[in-house]
Amino acid sequence: VQPDLPDEQRIITLMEQERSRHYLFSITSIRGRDRSLSGIVLLLRDVTRLKEVERLKSEFVMAASHELRTPLTSLGMSVDLLLEHTAPSLAEKDRELLQAAHEEVHRMKALVNDLLDLSRIEAGRIEMEFENVPVPTLFDHVEAVFESQVEMKEVALTSELIGDLPKVRADANKITWVLTNLISNALRYVSKGGRIQLLAHRIGPNVHLSVRDDGPGISPEYHSKIFQKFVQVKGREAGGTGLGLAICKEIVRAHGGAIWIESSPGQGSTFTFTLPAAR
Ligand code: ADP
Repeated sequence: VQPDLPDEQRIITLMEQERSRHYLFSITSIRGRDRSLSGIVLLLRDVTRLKEVERLKSEFVMAASHELRTPLTSLGMSVDLLLEHTAPSLAEKDRELLQAAHEEVHRMKALVNDLLDLSRIEAGRIEMEFENVPVPTLFDHVEAVFESQVEMKEVALTSELIGDLPKVRADANKITWVLTNLISNALRYVSKGGRIQLLAHRIGPNVHLSVRDDGPGISPEYHSKIFQKFVQVKGREAGGTGLGLAICKEIVRAHGGAIWIESSPGQGSTFTFTLPAAR
């Protein structure tokens, strides 16, 4: 039976005379007339060049976004100063133009920052600082961060620790980033008076952490796609950059974990990721 693994987990790396080569494998069983197993075909596809291209792409994006940051910062500052100093004397239309420029610069800065983060993680350039972290510490921290936003939208943000919970082996800052991102997505989509739950429980050697909301949900065809770069669900107001979940996935992967979504339209969404329990 073909193991149901995502592509990136089907790659094996072999050393050949000092150089490593990467192979994507697939397994097919051959069955005889009586359905008995008569053999197995293991196919190895050399994807070394593809991996190299991926790496170059990441490096290019990293360099480009890095270069864009400085001019964007000064552009943003100029627009903000203009808004502050001249807004009262401007015609309504001109002020609106300036306000639009201010918002667009803000969005571009967010995009460039996300791109830079993502390409750094992809290139393995982000240092992970692993420690044994109690889950309540992580939850308390993000609950404090969102306190005022939650109040403003009259949303109930609660957390629940199920059973005897071990500490997790994690980089607390990066996992806080993941939780923050999942909660701010949830907060964007729940309606006023909605509900967001943080959950944690142990399963075998891992701890599962979830962010559950009672928002509009996401239809199944998007479930694997939304973790890819720039994918946004059609027909929703485009607020973010479409990179948030891709970054979450990379961070979780750097911890040796996985992330997935359970949702159907109208039923809310639950994003769950795993972290190794501390020994
Ligand atoms: P963005 O920066 O656009 O939020 P993400 O990668 O974080 O990008 O999310 C991808 C898309 O997934 C979003 O555009 C949104 O349509 C959808 N999405 C994410 N979280 C939720 C949620 N909690 N409820 C409904 N839709 C969501």
